[in-house]
Amino acid sequence: MSPNRRTRKLAPALASSPPYEVSSVQRVPLDAVIATAELEQRPTRAPDFESESRALVGLMRAVREADTSVLQKLAETALRLCRAQSAGVSIEEEAAGRRVFRWHGAAGRWAPLRGGVVPRDFSPCGTVLDRNTPVLMKHPERHFALPHADTLPITETLLVPFAADGATVGTVWLGLHDESRQFEREDLRLLTSLSECASLAHQALERNSKMRVALVKERGDFALLREISAALIRENDINALYEQILEAATSIMLSDCASLQMLRDGKLCLLGWRGFDAHAVRYWQEVRANSTSACGRALSAKERVVIADTERCEVLAGTADLAEFRRSGIRSVQSTPLTSRTGELVGILSTHWREPQTPAAGELRLFEVLARMAADLIERARTEQAMREADRRKDEFLAILSHELRNPLAPITTGLELLRRPSNKPELVGSIHLMMSRQVSHLTRLVNDLLDLSRITRGKVELQRATLELRVVIEAAIDLARPLIDQRGHDLIVEQPVRSPCVDGDLERLTQVVSNVLGNAAKYTDPGGRIHLRVSQEGGQTLIRVRDSGLGIPAGQLEQVFAMFAQIPEHRARAGGVGLGIGLALSRRLVELHGGTIVATSEGLGQGSEFLIRLPLAAAAEASDEITRPNADDAHGIWQRILIIEDNVDAADSLRAGLESQGHTVRTARTAPEGLGMVEEFSPEVVLLDIGLPEIDGYEAARRLRSRLGSDVRLVAVTGWGQERDRERAREAGFDAHLTKPVTLEALAKVLRRTVSRVA
Ligand code: ADP
Repeated sequence: MSPNRRTRKLAPALASSPPYEVSSVQRVPLDAVIATAELEQRPTRAPDFESESRALVGLMRAVREADTSVLQKLAETALRLCRAQSAGVSIEEEAAGRRVFRWHGAAGRWAPLRGGVVPRDFSPCGTVLDRNTPVLMKHPERHFALPHADTLPITETLLVPFAADGATVGTVWLGLHDESRQFEREDLRLLTSLSECASLAHQALERNSKMRVALVKERGDFALLREISAALIRENDINALYEQILEAATSIMLSDCASLQMLRDGKLCLLGWRGFDAHAVRYWQEVRANSTSACGRALSAKERVVIADTERCEVLAGTADLAEFRRSGIRSVQSTPLTSRTGELVGILSTHWREPQTPAAGELRLFEVLARMAADLIERARTEQAMREADRRKDEFLAILSHELRNPLAPITTGLELLRRPSNKPELVGSIHLMMSRQVSHLTRLVNDLLDLSRITRGKVELQRATLELRVVIEAAIDLARPLIDQRGHDLIVEQPVRSPCVDGDLERLTQVVSNVLGNAAKYTDPGGRIHLRVSQEGGQTLIRVRDSGLGIPAGQLEQVFAMFAQIPEHRARAGGVGLGIGLALSRRLVELHGGTIVATSEGLGQGSEFLIRLPLAAAAEASDEITRPNADDAHGIWQRILIIEDNVDAADSLRAGLESQGHTVRTARTAPEGLGMVEEFSPEVVLLDIGLPEIDGYEAARRLRSRLGSDVRLVAVTGWGQERDRERAREAGFDAHLTKPVTLEALAKVLRRTVSRVA
C-alpha cells in the first residue's frame, strides 16, 4: 500500500456525475510520478504482428458496424494485447459545468468503473491531453486521487492521446496493479496503433449519434408539419393554427422565439408570437413595411433575411430595433417572406435566438414547407376577413339603398296625393310635376347604376369604341358635374394639352367615369373648395388627374373605395349621405375594360384626394376624319384662369363678365405693371392684353410676360389695330393670337379653345 493513501483524502467514488471535492490534499509533484523516459531503457519484447492484426481487424469491423460498444472492445483488446491488468478509453466532456473524463471503455481490474466520470484535475488523462504526448506514470495516486477509495492502487499506467477531427479529445490507457511486470516500448507501440483505432471509432460513433439525433428531430418536425397540414383543413380556430405554426417554427429552427406577421395596409401586423415578453409584443405589434428591421427588409427584398449576429449587423447599428433586441436578449434573427399562391407577399415568419446563429440548410428546407403553410393560412384568414367585410358592406348597402330609394319615393307619393285634389291650380300642378320628374330621374339614375353594376359584374357590358379626342370626354364630363360643382361653390381648374390626346374608347362610358370622379370631388369637398383636373400624356398613355382640396381618404382605405358598396363612414355624415358606394367600383371596371387603371392617393383625412386615371393612347391618333372632336363653335370650353390687362374699365368688366359666365376664372388689371404684379399669385393660363396701354405698351408687356412665364402661358392681343403689319408685330412680341376690337365672346371662345394651356 502506498504511504500516500494514509495521508491524503481520497477522491470519492467514480460516479456518473462528478462528485469530487478533494480538500487538504498533499500531493507529490507531477514530475515525480512521470517515468516516460524509463521506457527507452527497458528491454522490450518482439512484436506479435499476427495477434495484433487479428485484433485490429476485429476492432475495425466493430467500427464499420457502428457498434456502440466499440470503445469497450478497444479497452479489452488493449488489455489483452499488452497483457495489462486494467485498460480503458477516457474522453473529455463537460458535466455539471466541469470538465471531466468519461470512461467509455474499462477492462480488467477497473472494469466496474466503466461509464463513470473523473474530474479532469484528478486524472492523469488531463496531463496527457495538456502535453499531447504518451506518458508513463508510476504510482500516479501519489499526485492524483484514486478514482475510488476502494480501488486498487496502480503501480504503473501508460497513456496515449487520441484525436478526433484534428483535436485531442481523450486517451487510451493501460494499468498495472502489482510489480509482476512493467510496461515496455512494444506496449507503447501497440497502444499508439490502437489509439488510432479509437480515434476512428470515436469519430464514426459521434457522426452516427449526431445523425441519429438529427433524424429523430427531423422525424418529429415532419410529424409536426403533417399535423399542421391536417389541421389547416380541419381546424376552424385560426388562432390555434397560428400557435401550431409558431410551435413548429421554434422546433424546426431550434430557436428561442418566433413571430408571425401579416401584411395589412402597408404594415406588418403581429398575428402570433412565442417567447416574446409584453414589451416585445408591444414593440413589434406593427412594423412599417419599409422599415429597416429584418422583417421589413425581407418584405422589400422578397427574400429571407438572416442576421447571424445582431451586434455585428451594420444595418441595425444604432437603431431602436437593436436596442429592443438587446433588451429582450436576442442575438440573431431570420425572417422569411410568406408568398401566396398568386405570388403576392402576405406576411413574414421569423425566428429569433439568444445566441449568434446561422440556420442550417436542412432546417431552412423544412422551414420553407412551414412558410408555405403559414402563407396558405394567412391567405385563408384574409379571404375570411374579406368575406366578412363584403357581407358587412352588402348589409350596409341594403340599408343605404332602401334609404336612398325612400328619399325620392316620399315626395313622389306626396305629389300623387296632391294631384288627386280636383281644386289644384295649374301652377301648383306644374311645380308638382317638375318635382316629381326630378325625383323620378334621380330614381332612374340609381336604378341605372345598379343595372350597370350587375351587367358589368356579369361581363355583359360592351363598349361602343371609337377614336376620341379626350377633350370631348372631359368637356362632356364637366358638363355633367358642373351643376354640383357650382352648387357647392368650388373653383374648377382645368389643364389640358393644346393637342388633345386621343383614346380608343366609349364616349358615354368614359364620360361616366370622369364625371363620377369629378362629381365625387365636388361631393367630398366642403363648399368653396378647389378641384383641379389635369390631362397629360406619358409614354403610350394619357393621364387624367382629378385633385381636390376635400375630405381626403385614410391610407388604409385608398384601395377599398373601389370595392362595391364601399363608403367611408365619416364622409357619409359630412357629404350629406348621397350615393350608393358603387360609382368608383363601376368606374374601375369601365377603365379596366378600356385597358387602363384608376387609383386614388391622399395624404389622409382632411388632406384632399387625387384620382389618377390612365388610359392607353389610341393607336391611330392621326386618323383625322375618324376622330370625335369637340364642336369648335361651342362657346363652352375648358375653364381656364384668364388675366385681362385693359385700361378701359368698361371693356375689361364686360369681357370679364362674359368669360366668367362661361365658367372661367378671371382677374383684371388696368396697367401692365399691375398685371405683371399679379401673375405670380394668380398663375394665369391665358392673358388678354390690350396693346395701347399706358406706362408699358402691350408688346413690351408681352415680352416680359413671356420671359417670366415661359411657353406655358397663352398671350392674346386684344387691340383696335387689325392690319397684317400689326399682327406680324404681335407675333414677334410673343403673342399666340390676335383679336381686333370689339371682341365677341364667340370669337374669344374660339381663340381660347385653340389656346388651351399647354401641359408638358
Ligand atoms: P359614393 O356613391 O358613395 O360616392 P363611390 O364608389 O363613388 O360611391 O365612392 C366610394 C367612397 O369613396 C365614397 O363614399 C367616399 O367615401 C370615397 N370617395 C370617393 N371619392 C372621394 C374623394 N374625391 N374624396 C374623398 N373621398 C372620396
